[in-house]
Parts: sequence; structure tokens; C-alpha cells
Amino acid sequence: MKCPVCQSENLSDEAEYAAFENTARFRDWEPGVLQWKDLAVGAERARICLDCGYLLLFAGGAKLEKLRKGRPA
Ligand SMILES: [Zn+2]
Repeated sequence: MKCPVCQSENLSDEAEYAAFENTARFRDWEPGVLQWKDLAVGAERARICLDCGYLLLFAGGAKLEKLRKGRPA
């Protein structure tokens, strides 16, 4: 894996990342009780480029799996 900014391969190990506002929201993605719910995907994992400090953010595994499966019919 390389830093997308400086191309360095000197990245940190993966760390837990906490964010409460920054999410990608997929409208009407999941069936809810009475209506469809949005699927909000935020960064849950991170690596940091140890050369330039760029923060690489990754979605969590459970949300990623939902996206891979696609929107239920
Ligand atoms: Zn970098």
C-alpha cells in the first residue's frame, strides 16, 4: 500500500478511527420498520503516512460488506 500523496510505502499499522460527522450517506438503502433507512458509512479504520502525515481512512468491515452486497431489492 502506498500513500496517495507522496507515494511513500512508509505507512503506520492500521488503527481504529472515530468520526461522528464525516459519513457517506446512501439514501434509502436498508429496509427499516416502516420505511427505508439510509446507510451512513464513515471511516472506522485509518493508516497514517509516516513521511508526509497523510491520513488514509477506510470504512468499517460491516458497512463495507453491506455495500458489496448492494441495495436489497
Ligand atoms: Zn505520504
